[in-house]
Amino acid sequence: MPALEQWPLRGGAPCLDFANTVAWRATERELDGMHHYHDLIHWSRHAGFISPAESERLLQRAAFDPTGTRETLVRAVTLRAAIHRLFVALAHDDLPAADDLAAINAALAEGMPRAKITPSGAGFAYAFADEGEHLALPLWKLADSAASLLVSGEWQRVRECPGHECGWLFLDRTRNGNRRWCDSADCGNRARVRAHYQRHHTAAAATAS
Ligand SMILES: [Zn+2]
Repeated sequence: MPALEQWPLRGGAPCLDFANTVAWRATERELDGMHHYHDLIHWSRHAGFISPAESERLLQRAAFDPTGTRETLVRAVTLRAAIHRLFVALAHDDLPAADDLAAINAALAEGMPRAKITPSGAGFAYAFADEGEHLALPLWKLADSAASLLVSGEWQRVRECPGHECGWLFLDRTRNGNRRWCDSADCGNRARVRAHYQRHHTAAAATAS
C-alpha cells in the first residue's frame, strides 16, 4: 500500500475515504496508515477537505502540543471505527449502533459552535471559524461529512466492496445503482481473474478425472 499521502480515494465522500484508511481490515494483512497526528493531516489534505494553508497551520500548532496531538489521534481513530461500523451496518440494511451515532454526534457538536457560512467564488461555502487553530478540525469536517451523508439520504447508496478481503466503503453514484466494486480495475479485476482460474481448474479437474 502507498503512504497515506497517495492512499486510494474510492469512497466518494471524505468520511468513507476516512474509514478506508484501514486496508484489508480484520484480515492477517490488515494495514492501518494512521499512526501519528501528522498522518491524519497529510491524509486530510490529500483527501481534499483541508487546504494546504490549514494543513500548514495545524502542523505548526501540533509541534507545540504533543499531548493534544496524541489525544486527537486517539479520537480520530475512535471516530473512524464508529463511522466504519455505522456505514457497514447501513450498507447491509442493519440499524446503526447508538454508540456509533453518538461518537459522530460528539465530534459534530464540538465543531458546530464554530461553523459558519462564507462567500466562496460565486456562491457560499460551509466552513469553521479559526480554521487551523484547533487540532480537531479534521474530525469536525469528517463528522460533518458523515452527517451530510445521513441527512441527505445518500447513505442508502453506501456499499461495502465485496472484493476478496477488501471491505472498503463507497458511495454508489451511478444512475442505476449498479456500482459493485470500490475499484473495478482493482477488486473487480481480481474477482474476474479468480473466477477465471476457478473455472479453468474445475474444467481441468473434470478433464483429468
Ligand atoms: Zn474493493
